[in-house]
Amino acid sequence: MRDIARRLEGAGFPTFAVGGAVRDALLGLPAQDWDLATRARPQEVRRLFRRTVPIGIEHGTVGVHGKDGVLYEVTTFRRDVETFGRHATVEFADSIEDDLSRRDFTINALAWDPATGELRDPYGGLDDLAAGVLRTVGGAEERFAEDYLRVLRALRFAGQFRLRIDGDSWSALTGATPQLALLSAERVREELLKVLSKSRCASAALSLYAASGVLGALYPELERLVEMAAEVGSGSGLGSGSGGDDVWALTLRAVDVIPPSRPLLRLAALLHATGMPAARTRDLRGGWRYTGHEQAGARVAQELLRRLKASNAEIERVGQLVRHQSDLFPPDSRSPVVRRWMLAVGRDLLDDLWRLRFALARARDPANAALPPDLLERWRMARFIRRQHPPLSVAELDIDGGDLKELGLRPGPRFGEILRALLEQVLDDPALNTREKLLDLARQIVDVSGNVDVQPQPRPRRP
Ligand code: ATP
Ligand code: MG
Repeated sequence: MRDIARRLEGAGFPTFAVGGAVRDALLGLPAQDWDLATRARPQEVRRLFRRTVPIGIEHGTVGVHGKDGVLYEVTTFRRDVETFGRHATVEFADSIEDDLSRRDFTINALAWDPATGELRDPYGGLDDLAAGVLRTVGGAEERFAEDYLRVLRALRFAGQFRLRIDGDSWSALTGATPQLALLSAERVREELLKVLSKSRCASAALSLYAASGVLGALYPELERLVEMAAEVGSGSGLGSGSGGDDVWALTLRAVDVIPPSRPLLRLAALLHATGMPAARTRDLRGGWRYTGHEQAGARVAQELLRRLKASNAEIERVGQLVRHQSDLFPPDSRSPVVRRWMLAVGRDLLDDLWRLRFALARARDPANAALPPDLLERWRMARFIRRQHPPLSVAELDIDGGDLKELGLRPGPRFGEILRALLEQVLDDPALNTREKLLDLARQIVDVSGNVDVQPQPRPRRP
């Protein structure tokens, strides 16, 4: 990064490190993604360096490979000409001060000259960092109205760096929440994923989402959990025993327990209880029941993610995790039961499902550092069985339709029937999964049902 700055400076273009990396370095945090701002225009940057990448020429951004092999973004100083609350028209500018004036918060409006070590701080960002304050650059109302995404960014930075939001900024921000509907789904989703992936304690920003009205504006499904917690909390005091006592607090704890490197799993934890408000009924003692909330929650979660234009894979994954969050074989189950559970849940979901379950267990009993012994016992059992790689699908059987044909069977729906019957037997006893044994079993099934073309028979089961 320094080598790039030095060359630009050498060619007569003032150049500074700007943005998040400067802030993070001043906070004593590992600073990644160093960005450079320069007076050089994109064409001049491209002329000065041998290997450049046109990342966003129209925005003034050129990628330049540093000596360390990293691609750095070098952006020409810019100034806002016009802003619309969603995006701005900018033009190139000649001074770093112009460039800093269009940045969102004082702590993000610091520029550092790598050549001289000089810090440019026209808005008092350093003092705000030291005092732990998040404040807009310039008039708060105006700055949020220029780009409503800044509302979400403010909450994220405040949560991530444990900053207090300055009074003017806070009231402007809360006043702007109705306008958040103007933001594109993509920007809202990206922000949420940053909340989940940039900070171990994502609950700090999420609590601010709730307190500011952002939750109500963008995520009414989650706002319902906050309301429900308030209702149940102020009610008769009859706990439901199923975690409904303060489900929002529990949700936040569960998110924090999962590492930020697993944002999708954190998303599943965040959305795991969204079916509870609709599923809630009174039980005979006057407490609350939430029977079936997992299915309802999966639908709510998927709907929410569809609204955010998440990818189909993400929608599917989170939906599955929410749907299966409570599915588990009973304690002391025998291995066929465990294998059928694995089949029902799906092998590729297992690891994440355990992680989610452990997170929810920890969140339900935060004072207890240990996981519930019966849960751990079942996890060990499942791991033991999984390491034996039992066949869990027809495709994993040691025979296929071709083998059945050799037995003289004619292809048709009956094939699938027979293979599924064989799978049932193999789930009971994986040692049966050899070609020879399966062909024997297939013969028996055919003998029992007689002619191949007769109606499907009930699946044979071992007593
Ligand atoms: P991080 O990358 O850790 O989320 P960051 O501060 O680097 O934090 P970026 O989104 O990478 O955030 O943006 C880099 C810089 O660009 C910010 O520090 C800020 O100065 C400026 N910036 C980004 N988005 C906006 C915005 N919506 N309005 C004004 N300035 C912005
Ligand atoms: Mg950044």
